[in-house]
Amino acid sequence: MSPIIAIEEHYITHEIPTLVENYAAMPEFTRKRLHDHFELRLKEMDEAGIDIQILSHNHPGAQIFSPETALEQSALLNDELAKIVSKHPDRFAAFASLPMQAPEIAADELERCVKTHRMKGAMLHGMLKGEFFDLPKFWPVFARAEALDVPVYLHPGVPDKRVTDAYYQDYADEFKVFKTAGWGFGVEMSTAAVRMVLSGIFDTHPNLKIILGHLGEGIPFLLDRTHEGITTRQSPNSRQVSFRDTFCKHFYITTSGNFSDSALLCSLMEMGADRILFAVDWPYNNNKDGTDWIKSTKLSPDDYEKITHLNAEKLLNLK
Ligand code: MN
Repeated sequence: MSPIIAIEEHYITHEIPTLVENYAAMPEFTRKRLHDHFELRLKEMDEAGIDIQILSHNHPGAQIFSPETALEQSALLNDELAKIVSKHPDRFAAFASLPMQAPEIAADELERCVKTHRMKGAMLHGMLKGEFFDLPKFWPVFARAEALDVPVYLHPGVPDKRVTDAYYQDYADEFKVFKTAGWGFGVEMSTAAVRMVLSGIFDTHPNLKIILGHLGEGIPFLLDRTHEGITTRQSPNSRQVSFRDTFCKHFYITTSGNFSDSALLCSLMEMGADRILFAVDWPYNNNKDGTDWIKSTKLSPDDYEKITHLNAEKLLNLK
């Protein structure tokens, strides 16, 4: 039987207890699983037939560290993660958590995690204090990822307060998840991805690889329209950006929390099977829901192998 690798699977550190926004409001079910690094985690992986989880810290992880403490604190966090992986190296691998308030330290920490701990890349979350990561001050981190040939996973974070106030506040009390997984996460991360393309970072870093969760945060569905708006209607005097080419060359998408046949079909038609990787988004989504779904799809055997493990093995250099 071919393995299933799930690449957006979260945990919470035991080393530093205050790294999760809204921790107190988190349901006990979720908190218990995020803190469970082995027993329940492996049990639910086995029940669902997931062979390997690529672990990442829950939002916001090391992003919360100030430049003054970034070096020491992020090392503490990532060393603990490496220790978790080392207990079951056949079942786990990891994405580093980076102190993005100090981009040069974050870049060095990424290199340390990849070279010393054999981590597979990094995960960044949402915006940082109201700024998107495409801004040039963050480019040293992406430059280092390119040099190390590891991907950067752009994962949602709680939206900026200005956005929440303008977009979500009217319904936020009644519909708690409207501003996050129900809608706001997708708006924020699709915007983050489009901005990455517009920034020109892929001209400077032609081998940079970015991962988006949730089957591309809506972009595959809107790819043609976004390309039309950004590329075809661009005035001849402006910088020329081919949205479709850039997005499809540099981005990979995962199935995290979006177990939909029609969304998968759309993603396959727009991006191809080489760009899609299986993920659950545990414990926010159920492992078995994810594996039951992917096994039930009418994917060709070749595409199924790519999506469930071959693409991850290649992108993350797992073998
Ligand atoms: Mn997630």
